[in-house]
Parts: sequence; structure tokens; C-alpha cells
Amino acid sequence: MLDSNSETLRRVLKADWHLASFDSTCWSAQVSNAFNGLQISAMFKQKMLRATQVPTQEFICDLRFKHLKVWREADFSCPRAVNKKAVTYHKWCGSSESGPKGSPFSIPSYLYKDLDKHVLRNFSRFRLRAHHLRVEFCKLHGGSSICDQRECGEVQDEKHVLFFCKCAEVCELRMRYRDLCEGMLKTLRVFAPSSSEFIPFLTCHHSITDFEINAFLNQGSYRLLKFVSDLVSILDTG
Ligand SMILES: [Zn+2]
Repeated sequence: MLDSNSETLRRVLKADWHLASFDSTCWSAQVSNAFNGLQISAMFKQKMLRATQVPTQEFICDLRFKHLKVWREADFSCPRAVNKKAVTYHKWCGSSESGPKGSPFSIPSYLYKDLDKHVLRNFSRFRLRAHHLRVEFCKLHGGSSICDQRECGEVQDEKHVLFFCKCAEVCELRMRYRDLCEGMLKTLRVFAPSSSEFIPFLTCHHSITDFEINAFLNQGSYRLLKFVSDLVSILDTG
């Protein structure tokens, strides 16, 4: 609009700028308010009100910084302490190379794979916490977030069902995908009767870091995607 050769348009714009000081519904006031929350919002507002060009690159960088606030806050949060989807996604599921930590955002690589739709859907549901695990299910339907398997006794979240849950079906699944899981579960092997025996779960005495969970879920292999999809299917049936 600033570069327009229309005298009428420039007059309309100028009138709208005058209106902005006492009418919050006019176009200029709404654009000015849209700058709120940016680091250098005052400068952008000044430029707009003086009818000078807003520096596009600075605006884009500032806007991106603002949008990434949710991930900066998640950096200092623990998924189990705050129970927020964004924190869980950031710490356990998001790709450290191209996900929310990166800038600009790029599409996760698994979405480019030629996958069965059911696998694709289930894996996405797991990453975005759109599943039937107790940690999410109890928010909508009430009840406890503790795993209903008698021997478990901890919150049924992604970390629990991936490595700690003692549900027979989940353990059998880990046995079928032993090549994927034994690296994460190997700490228990020293307690196994023989070095070749595989125990398909961890106990409360073991710990897995957020970084290890993230690396496990971002392997990108088809077997990992299939493993998670099968896990979601088991949990869907309760
Ligand atoms: Zn369990």
C-alpha cells in the first residue's frame, strides 16, 4: 500500500492511521496490536505509524523467535512433572535436527516414507499424544493415570509403555522386536540367568533419559515405526 500510485488509497491509509489512536477496530490498530509480543514491537509500530517500510527480514526473525517460545519453555520442563503435550513432544518425540528445536521447521522424515496408512496414523498418534494411554485418557474420561497392569504402579505414559510396562502383550511385542529393544533394555541383562536371556521390560530401579527416548523414537527405521504402531494397537484394545 505504501508503494501504491493511487492517491485515494494513500488518503484512506492515512485516515485509518489517525483512527487507530481511538478506535481499536480499525485496520491500523489491529495491525499494530499484531506486533505485540515481538522483541522489537515498538520499532515495528513506529515504522507503521510513520508510513515507512517494516524491515521484512527482521520481522520474520522476530516472529519466528516468538513462535519458538513454546519450545524454549519446554526445554526446562520435565514431561512427567508438567504433563503437557508440547513438553512430551519436545523432549521425547520431536526430531532434534529438523523438529521444533530447529529453525525453520521441516516435516518429519517418516511422513515422506511409503508407509501403510495404519502405521502412519498410529505413529503420528503416538507422537502427538492422540492415543489411549491412561495419562491422556484420564483427562477426558476421569480415573487414574496409573497403568492398570497390577505389577506396574506408575503413570502409563509413552516412556512407561515403551520400556517399563509389564503387560504380557507389550512384553511379547518387545520380544518380537528384540533387535530394536535390547539396546535400551540391556541394563537388565546382567541380572538374567544367562547372558543370552532377554528380559522384555525395565524395572523402577532403572532410568532412561529424555535424550535416550528421543533417540529411540527418531531412528527412522521401518521396524521402529511398525513397533510403535503395533504398541498403539495393543493399547487401543485396552
Ligand atoms: Zn504398565
